[in-house]
This record gives sequence, C-alpha cells and structure tokens, in this order.
Amino acid sequence: MEKINSLCKRRGIIFPSSEIYGGLANAWDFGPLGVEMKGNIKREWWKMFVQQRSDIIGIDSAIIINPRVWESSGHITGFSDPLTECRHCHQRFRADHLIGEEKWKEEKEAFEIISEAEKEAKFQEIIKKCPNCGQEKTLTAPRNFNLMLKTFLGPLEDESSCAYLRPETAQGIFINFQNVLGSSRQTIPFGIAQIGKAFRNEITPRNHIFRTREFEQMEIEYFIAPPKNEKEWEVPFEGWRQLIRGWITHLGIDQKNIQELDVPKEELAHYSRKTIDFEYNFPFGLKELYGLAYRTDFDLKNHEKNSGENLKYRDPSSDEKYWPHVIEPSLGVERTLLAVLVESYREETTPEGELRIVMKFPAWLAPIKVAILPLVKNNNEIVSKSQEIYHQLKTKFVCEYDQSGTVGRRYRRQDEIGTPFAITVDFQTLEDQKVTIRDRDTMKQERIAIKEIEKYLRKKIDD
Ligand code: ATP
Repeated sequence: MEKINSLCKRRGIIFPSSEIYGGLANAWDFGPLGVEMKGNIKREWWKMFVQQRSDIIGIDSAIIINPRVWESSGHITGFSDPLTECRHCHQRFRADHLIGEEKWKEEKEAFEIISEAEKEAKFQEIIKKCPNCGQEKTLTAPRNFNLMLKTFLGPLEDESSCAYLRPETAQGIFINFQNVLGSSRQTIPFGIAQIGKAFRNEITPRNHIFRTREFEQMEIEYFIAPPKNEKEWEVPFEGWRQLIRGWITHLGIDQKNIQELDVPKEELAHYSRKTIDFEYNFPFGLKELYGLAYRTDFDLKNHEKNSGENLKYRDPSSDEKYWPHVIEPSLGVERTLLAVLVESYREETTPEGELRIVMKFPAWLAPIKVAILPLVKNNNEIVSKSQEIYHQLKTKFVCEYDQSGTVGRRYRRQDEIGTPFAITVDFQTLEDQKVTIRDRDTMKQERIAIKEIEKYLRKKIDD
C-alpha cells in the first residue's frame, strides 16, 4: 500500500487533503490524473448501465434533503456502529473491529441487556489494553454511534434546523419514484440510477481512500413486481450478480481476487432480505468492494406510510397496484479506483535489467491515453511536427506532450501513470510521415503513418 500511496502522490493521482495546514485525517484530494480516472469510471458505468440500456434511467438528487426521509429509511434509528473510546489517549475504535466481527456477532446481544457499568467491565475483560496507548482497562463500554453527518440549515442551530448530509444516494431515488415514473415511459421491471457523493461519520476511517467520510456512490434501484415466490426475486438478483462480476472484469480485475460473501442474516442491514458483499483482496485484507442487496419493498412502503403520498405502481395491463420490490447494486467510486490501482500495479525487469513500474490499467480507464514524445527537443522540425500531432490528437483523446529527458526516462514516466500508448516523433518521421507507437504492456514498437494514428488508437482503446 505504501508504494501505491507514494506513486499516487508523486504522479498526481491522489493527495492527502489540506496538507499545508497539517492535513485532515483520512481526507483525500484527487489530482489531475485521479480526477480523470474517477471521471472515466463514472462515465463508463453510466454508459454501460444507463445509456446503453432501455430499462434504466438516471437522476441526480440533492445531497441535503428533508430529514424526515432519514426517519422513514430507518437511518436515524438504525444506521450506527458500536464505538468505544480510550479514557487515557481518547482514541476511538469500532468495538466490533477490536473484538473481531465474528465474536462481536456472538457477544452483541449479551451486551444489550446489561447495565453500562457491566458492559464496560465485560468489554475490558475481552479487550484488556488500548490498542493505541497500551493502557489497561481504559476502554469505555461500546455505545451506538450514528454515522450520519449533521448540519444546520439557516442561522439557528437547533433541532428544528437540523439536517443531514445523505449517507447513501439510494433515498434520493426512492423519494423521486413517482416523479420519474410520471415523466418517463418505464414499466416494471425498470431501474433508476444515480452517481453522487455520500457522507458517513465513520469512526475509524483508514486504509487510504478505502474508508473515508466523504465518498461517491454509483447506485441503481431496480424495481421488480412483488415476487410470488423466492424464484421471482432470485432470478433478477442473480442477473445483477453476474452484471457486477462482468463490470469487475471490465475494470481489469482478476476474478480470483474477488470473493463473494453472503452476508449472514444477523448482520444484514435493517432493509435487506439478502446481501452479497463483493470483497476484493486489498493489501490490508479481503474487504468489501461492492454490495448487492434485495431491499424488498421496505423503502417505498415506509415513505408512503410517513409522507402520506401514494408511492404504489399501477400495472398498466392488470390495473393491479403495488409497492415494487427493489434489487440494489451499490458501488463505491473510490473503492473502485483503489482496487484498480492495486490490481494494476506491477514491478517488472526490462530486458536491459532495469526496474520498470507499470500501471496496467485497461486503456479506457487510463488517465492519459497517449503520450507524444519528440525524440529530441532541440530540432525545430521534430518539435513542431510533434506539436502538430499533439494538437490534432488532443481533440480526440486525453494526451500528454513530454519533451523533457531521455526517451527511456519519458517511457518510464508514462508506464508509471499507465499510459497505454506512446508516440515518438524522430528524424525519419520528417522523411516518411510515420511515427513509432510503443505499446505499454508489450513494449513493442510499430511504425504507423501519421494519418492512420487516430484510427489505430481508436481501435486499440475500444477493444
Ligand atoms: P462497510 O461495511 O465497508 O462500511 P457498507 O456495507 O456500510 O460498507 P454500503 O452501505 O453497502 O457499505 O455502501 C455501498 C458501497 O459504498 C460500498 O460497497 C462501498 O463501495 C462504498 N462505501 C461505503 N462506505 C464507504 C466509505 N466510508 N468510504 C468509501 N466508500 C464507501
């Protein structure tokens, strides 16, 4: 992870946030290459799951919405993690992480029925020392901590002006269900997609951009008719499981680095009947990359109950009215990027015996698609030919022009940022109007006519 962190900073992919003020723990900023990569991920997902499908449409809802939404969704009462704090160093921890998620599952109920003092004694019996300062018997009893970030709207900071930054994008979709239905020609089954920021006041954010308090989600709520038997939801659920698998392959991630966890019943979120976590083999362990949940009709039903508005669907052929059930693939943008960075990082030895660090991103995901490198920078004809090619290609692909240092060093630099193609303009180009195109992965070079470059690259990038 250290190597990836350092490469991200060195090459402008991800920076620790607010560095000039000493930083802010676990906040990250995306640099020029990081923003390109995040954009590529979001655009590709939108293209594949919204624009290229006739049964899914998109929305972009507000981040701060009526707080009553979070009452209906169950987030105000149910969206919490067990928190413990060291009385000595004041470091906070997730009790379930300290005890171990398996053991916490066994112990949780026992904790709920005893007094605060007993809870503390019992917890200190299991976790004797603070993992940070090493003091004994300083950890407080675990207490539930709501993960929603609060804010206040308007000049008064009181209960009536309290609002939340959304902890998931899903609810923005549910509250717009009738708006979308009434303004589109969709019939069940169909989906509504959204990409946007979500916020969670995580107790122990860590592991680079894996767990942060501010992140982006790509979510789809896929509405189906109320199932008459298990098969009727298992079939579309399985369909979405396969689609997520396909997306993971498209990212260039080897399926052997993915494990599916069928989340045990007692750990399911309050709205879920079944959830599969797609876990990726990160350097810090096997951890959730994406989730796929069968949310039943929990959300629409509760919103109807609490808002008084009709949120049922009327089947146009049978006239039957019902709350649709929902299958939800939920994907984090930053976790996608982190998994891609980990998966693509390679250290290779060149035939000349040099170390080459290369990011083997799929071409569609690479932040820069092609680098244009004049062989020398002190020959006007070579430089102006290179610039002409650069300006031409720039309107079609994200390109970089680089004339500093030896060509070898420039190739290394492009390898490190995963640029799939590098074009070298040399003396012969001036004679034959051809350039050398080097492939990042094979390091093979081909001579291509200048007028063929665009076609050549387009084919390679789209393949
Ligand atoms: P975890 O168990 O890791 O806290 P979760 O089960 O709470 O995750 P979901 O509520 O299912 O996560 O959110 C859907 C997706 O959003 C996750 O699979 C992940 O990709 C992303 N995500 C959730 N929380 C964070 C976070 N704090 N930082 C970055 N991405 C996140």
